[in-house]
Amino acid sequence: MGNLEMDIRYLPGVGERRAKLLNKLKIHNLRDLLMDYPRTYEDRTVFKPIAELIPGESVCVRATIATDPTYSYVRKGMELLKFRVTDGASLMNVTLFNKGYLRDRLHRGDDIVLYGKVGGTETRPEMTSPVLEMETAENGVTGRIVPIYHMTAGVNSRFISKLVGEAMARCADELVDPLPSDVRRKYKLCTAKYACENIHFPKDYESLDTARRRLIFEELFIIVCAMKLMRGSRAKRAARVPEKADLEEYFRALPFELTGAQRRAIDEAVRDMTSGRPMSRLVQGDVGSGKTVVSAACTWLAVKSGFQAAVMAPTEILAGQHYKTFCDLLSGFGIRVGLLTGAVKGKQRKKLIEEIKNGDIDVVIGTHALFSDDVEFKALALVTTDEQHRFGVQQRAALSAKSESPHVLVMSATPIPRTLALIIYGELDVSVIDELPPGRQTVDTFAVGESYRARIYNFIRKIVSQGNQVYIVCPMVEENDELPSDLRSVEEYARELREKVFPDISIGVIHGKMKPKEKDRVMTEFSEGKTKILVSTTVIEVGVDVPNAVLMVVENSDRFGLSQLHQLRGRVGRGKDKSYCILFKGAGGDVSEQRLKILCSTNDGFKIAEEDLAIRGPGDFFGSRQHGLPETRICEYTRDMELLKLAQTAALDTLERDPELRSPENEKLADEINRVLTESADTFS
Ligand code: ADP
Ligand code: MG
Repeated sequence: MGNLEMDIRYLPGVGERRAKLLNKLKIHNLRDLLMDYPRTYEDRTVFKPIAELIPGESVCVRATIATDPTYSYVRKGMELLKFRVTDGASLMNVTLFNKGYLRDRLHRGDDIVLYGKVGGTETRPEMTSPVLEMETAENGVTGRIVPIYHMTAGVNSRFISKLVGEAMARCADELVDPLPSDVRRKYKLCTAKYACENIHFPKDYESLDTARRRLIFEELFIIVCAMKLMRGSRAKRAARVPEKADLEEYFRALPFELTGAQRRAIDEAVRDMTSGRPMSRLVQGDVGSGKTVVSAACTWLAVKSGFQAAVMAPTEILAGQHYKTFCDLLSGFGIRVGLLTGAVKGKQRKKLIEEIKNGDIDVVIGTHALFSDDVEFKALALVTTDEQHRFGVQQRAALSAKSESPHVLVMSATPIPRTLALIIYGELDVSVIDELPPGRQTVDTFAVGESYRARIYNFIRKIVSQGNQVYIVCPMVEENDELPSDLRSVEEYARELREKVFPDISIGVIHGKMKPKEKDRVMTEFSEGKTKILVSTTVIEVGVDVPNAVLMVVENSDRFGLSQLHQLRGRVGRGKDKSYCILFKGAGGDVSEQRLKILCSTNDGFKIAEEDLAIRGPGDFFGSRQHGLPETRICEYTRDMELLKLAQTAALDTLERDPELRSPENEKLADEINRVLTESADTFS
């Protein structure tokens, strides 16, 4: 008898030492073991007679040992065991390395099954280091689909598979099914027990699919329920409510007419802010769609109602730029705007913090310097974060903690599918700005090889002589990256341009490792037109707005993600002059060629993101773990999008009927959600 909570070390064959190794694989008890789903599978279902073996293929062979195994000790770590096998019609040589312990166990006449890659030639096939077992072996490792598990030194996949078999024999009947039975029926999902058996030891591929489908569904169903339950409790807290919701006065003062999509996003946000509950809204819109003014309108409303607002940007450059924009858009109303970044220090900082605390400043724009403990607000009611996916989970939480329950507005140009946005941001409603301000031009985009370099340099020269400006981006250091050698290369590249190519043109350099003040200076010089070419790392990727810049040149563009390139391209095409983007192809090969073609053929950020996702897969697409998706055991968010949609619908249905999961048929579900939430408290925060 065992039970799911039983410590792994008590399972026969494990013990203290191996338990420690298994712990490294996050396996502590039998439940963890059963939920340690195989990483992949090996198809060992195909048997062939020796005469039909083709070198290079991996197959099973049923045979009899035809010669006495000969053992030879070559040197330490190099033992050979050789023998021949026959299937009655043909012979085959078999060589085993470092399997000396088998020499007393294998005998002429033994019936065995081999699985391995065929070597030798068609007429004289052989197998080296095949998987080998007695024909009579039970629960064997040949003749079927074999699970391959994540391993660690001292614990191989075969060992884990054995333990899983053992755990299953002990407690398969204890597995509770957290899925409500009506959900299971409606979505035609197999039972928990069947899923567990067939994910580990599939009878055939059909059973494996059935099992996978159910487990992925279950995992997503539980994540969605958990998120939604948390949201419920969050939304109950009272929010500061602006009393005045008439924005006409503000709209009239704007230097441009809002687009319909901007109006809609603002309306939705204002409705949230006056609803009595804290707003949590994501404003998604392509580069240049005009998200900033949505935040400015909400900020105006908050301040007019007697509260403060904060705007967080992921980089100093962007914070500086938002500061200017917000001053432009708000100071006409007597609203006082402050800028708090790492560059603000000493007396100046002390004064600013004092003003924030006593309410002399209405709106604070800043970077993560805003998170500092000593920053206190008098009456913070609204927090806007720009490009939030660039912030860590902790940073986001820190700012929200600065006020009881501020309204939260998130702006992003990264088009995350709605199904994922629901999970990443959990509690966020989404407004999409699907319309660009009038008069926007498409940016002509070309992917070129090295042979075009001289021509491109001439083109740069021409653009500058027309009075316009140019960005040149190299895929080098990002902020927070510790790569001094790369850092040198962006500066070296700029020096080369200055000395050899454009000695007569003023060139600026900017990268994440520079002091904030210096970055600010370089950026200002560029936006005032004092420098004509700006050589940069991706620090200028988000938000930078210099309408006179009309050419974006990207070096080694194969090293960027498509969405990232699209963001970079969004730095030009902001003024009235025709704009261009030139992508140097670099050495990326076919895939990158195909990817760059997509960029050249469309300016639609959502379409680009979709393609990017399809070509590269989700891991790359979302970059580091910053995306904020809860960790999963078996699902891959972007691959399993279809199931995610179903699970989402099912979860919302279930919670609609039983909002707190109190009814008896949802008891096991509630238990499982609690278990998952306790186990992974940090990923859900
Ligand atoms: P993003 O969505 O990329 O953050 P911004 O808010 O920076 O875009 O806006 C890009 C530019 O478009 C800014 O210069 C802004 O002043 C301008 N803009 C925004 N809305 C409109 C509009 N409705 N009509 C004309 N220009 C606009
Ligand atoms: Mg922006």
